[in-house]
Amino acid sequence: MIDYFNYCLFWVCIMGLCFGSFFNVVILRSLANESIVFPPSKCPKCGNKLLFWHNIPVVSYILLRGKCYFCKEKISIQYPIVELMTMLLFAFSFIKFGISTTTLFVMFWISCLIIMTGTDLKEQLVDCNIAIAMAVSGIIFNLLAAGSSGFIDSLIGLLIGAVILELIARSGYLFAGVRAMGEADTYVAGALGAIFGKEILMVLLCALLVSMLFIIPMFFYNQYKNGNKLTCILGILFALSFLILKTVWQSYFTLAVFIIIGLALAFSVLRGIKQAENRNYLPYVPALAAGALIFLFFII
Ligand SMILES: [Zn+2]
Repeated sequence: MIDYFNYCLFWVCIMGLCFGSFFNVVILRSLANESIVFPPSKCPKCGNKLLFWHNIPVVSYILLRGKCYFCKEKISIQYPIVELMTMLLFAFSFIKFGISTTTLFVMFWISCLIIMTGTDLKEQLVDCNIAIAMAVSGIIFNLLAAGSSGFIDSLIGLLIGAVILELIARSGYLFAGVRAMGEADTYVAGALGAIFGKEILMVLLCALLVSMLFIIPMFFYNQYKNGNKLTCILGILFALSFLILKTVWQSYFTLAVFIIIGLALAFSVLRGIKQAENRNYLPYVPALAAGALIFLFFII
């Protein structure tokens, strides 16, 4: 027996796969400045037009074993990943918000976030117009949901999100003389603020925690690669100190030793930041998107 809800869920998943397939095209062609609707899909390597069964989301990737049918060039794993992600996130929104206008808004925001995350990861470029569209839809959503108080909350959220990210971006001038982040991050945080209102603070906190999971290991890896092994050793000692302090020794002496290690680490890290010449651009839009999704599906 298939009930009505599961029947709808099935079609939401199919719709998610198709939209994901379309987002792949948007991510690629908006970067290449090509038309999104024309021309028909072709292999970027050999230029052969794809046959109809090469365009089925995920299924084609598996049938073709990740290679072009004509020239056997590898097909980017981006395609099935974006398709599956879109499907899952659409399904989550439907399960959480049911048959409602909220679901439609959430699906629209998810679509915007997927496209911006894709272009940010691929080329470190983000179309700010997408963020503006998100902000406008967020304001409309809150206006419909809670009238004028929702409208004001939405504007306050927009302001908080944009100002916080802009301040973080400009703090980069203090340490390195350049912006710490791109301008797009300010737009995206503002858009999320328009959607979540004052709750944007929680969303930004989620984004910060997500980014730490990637940034901290990456930072230490880069330090290690650049021969700055002292920072890595201090980092490991500092992490261990929490364990040791919690389980084995609890005296003022060990505490003092660990405080000194911690301060030495902080000093070493700061020196590392100032010295780093090949500074890596950090795509922050993916972290903001992840923060928004965690808040949307697990916190509210
Ligand atoms: Zn080919």
